[in-house]
Amino acid sequence: MPNNEYKRIWDKTLSLINDNNSIGRILYDTIVVNIIPISYKDNIFTVYIDTLYGKNMIEARCQNDILAALQQVEPSIAEFHITNSFDDTNVNDSNEDLSIDIESARKNANLKDQYTFYNFVKGDCNDFAFNVSKAVAKEPGNIETNPVFFYGGVGLGKTHLMQSIGNEVLERDKNKKVHYVSFDTFFSEYTDALSSKSKADFNQKYRSLNVLLIDDIQFIAKKERAQDEIFHIFEFLKNENVQIVFTSDRHPREIENLTDRLESRFANCLVDITKPDLETRIAIIKNKCSMRDVNLPDDIIYYLAENVDTNVRALENAFNKIVQFIKFSKVKINLDLAKEVLKPYIEENNKKEITVQAIIEEVAKYYNIKVEDILGSKRTATIAKPRQISMYLTRKLTSESLPSLGKKFNRDHSTVISGINKIDKLLKEDTEVLQAIYDLENVIKGN
Ligand code: ADP
Ligand code: MG
Repeated sequence: MPNNEYKRIWDKTLSLINDNNSIGRILYDTIVVNIIPISYKDNIFTVYIDTLYGKNMIEARCQNDILAALQQVEPSIAEFHITNSFDDTNVNDSNEDLSIDIESARKNANLKDQYTFYNFVKGDCNDFAFNVSKAVAKEPGNIETNPVFFYGGVGLGKTHLMQSIGNEVLERDKNKKVHYVSFDTFFSEYTDALSSKSKADFNQKYRSLNVLLIDDIQFIAKKERAQDEIFHIFEFLKNENVQIVFTSDRHPREIENLTDRLESRFANCLVDITKPDLETRIAIIKNKCSMRDVNLPDDIIYYLAENVDTNVRALENAFNKIVQFIKFSKVKINLDLAKEVLKPYIEENNKKEITVQAIIEEVAKYYNIKVEDILGSKRTATIAKPRQISMYLTRKLTSESLPSLGKKFNRDHSTVISGINKIDKLLKEDTEVLQAIYDLENVIKGN
């Protein structure tokens, strides 16, 4: 039998079990998928599972079902063994297995292998974030950095850094349990567990981890009523010594309706990532060139870096466009051609920035009142509504933070939040407001 045959058998068995749903969803998703096949010798198929709990669960609940599925795939299998320790005598072809394991570990952890510290370009914008990430990867669970909370605008490398932590933890010890999940998925797993009365399985799955990476936690704002329960889950995991890493596109203070205790939990170790400066943007492009093995003339690299300055993802997209052009066109690239190819990307980048001042001016004009009225203290309805509409539109159309909007409106940021919420509500019931927002947005965006 070829060296790798036992892995093929296991893959087929897994899909068979999955298709037939023969052992139940929860057991499958939480335990069976984590099984690592290690050998098939003398008609005995042996697998490894990293927790004693997992081993006991399989033996108690589905050992025979798995054996039956294995036998459907490979009739010569007579026995199915589960081990909880990596005993060399069990291992089929040792050297190769060790390298495969890290791959399965990465797959189980839901991590991408291109997101590593090695591929991450450092600059002033992310130096602190990079160093904290390295420290977390080296010593997950250290109370100083547990939990850690990374925040910054879109496309600035939060997911990349977070997954680098996971990948590095596995590089150091592939038997560590790491799991990357978006907040939305994490939350729906939780609600599914509640409705199928399998909260214990959910808890067990997460408490057995060493490192839990929760991406885009800002969406917690939409789960206002569940925040207390979420807080308790995080507390529980922290007490179980699980290192938790969060990312968010904004500071906890700017996550609408966040409860105080979640906010103070998140504040344990707050790390921001900002936009890369020109020098870092150049380094990022050079790094991408060497990774993709392309040779870009310096003037093109400089042009790209100087003109695409919104975020790294945008820079990457523009870079990919150039690489595509070089690959598929017979014409040799030069700066003029590059400018032509990059035109749509640069235009997107240079779109006029919408300012708070411009929005307030348009709203004042629309309602035939003065800018000073909006910024002043009068509370009459003819002024209050345009003021709230201005707050709503500035929040929607600019990237200003709530505290900064508060300052610009001469108010506390909680007043801005309630103004925004008021309009949110009116949009559902008041067609006049709906029309006003529609018209104003068009004017402001210059459509
Ligand atoms: P975010 O999660 O903050 O929205 P991502 O982590 O998805 O951003 O980053 C967007 C893209 O930019 C990814 O392909 C990522 O690899 C790349 N990227 C971001 N920052 C860097 C960096 N400092 N060095 C190299 N690549 C980066
Ligand atoms: Mg992200």
